[in-house]
Amino acid sequence: MPKRTTHTYSSEDAAPDGPDSDIFVYYCKHCGSHLLITDTQLQKMPKRKTDKAYVLDKSKHLARLNIAEAGKVVLKRGEGKMEKQFRMNCVGCGLFVFYRSEEDLEGASFIYVVDGALSTVAAETNPQDAPVPPCISNLDGGLVQVAIEVEDRAQRSEC
Ligand SMILES: [Zn+2]
Repeated sequence: MPKRTTHTYSSEDAAPDGPDSDIFVYYCKHCGSHLLITDTQLQKMPKRKTDKAYVLDKSKHLARLNIAEAGKVVLKRGEGKMEKQFRMNCVGCGLFVFYRSEEDLEGASFIYVVDGALSTVAAETNPQDAPVPPCISNLDGGLVQVAIEVEDRAQRSEC
């Protein structure tokens, strides 16, 4: 009698490992908040003709979202066609970044990524958040004054 073994695979088993298991992290283009971890690249995803949104197929790819739910929107698409969108916004700045067509996020087959909303790099530190050295002072009218101490080396020279 041939030996039979039963294997069961869960979606976790299907998680890729090895050299092909690239993980891509995407950030909000506006504020740099981390919004999406996936195993594919935006430029490799198919695009919708309607609004140029990238289509992330959750059955094929990892889709770990870090978003704020933004509610349902109904759009008119051409003659008599209505489209339901369940929108998801950036957790940091509220920018509209993803949507899905099913209310249940877990059950949704596709996540649509709004064209131009994501970036592969975290935003550079906002210059207004960075500490300004005390030698730089803001004057009225948007002028910036920089105080520079110049040492006269010739005078101090012992030679
Ligand atoms: Zn943001």
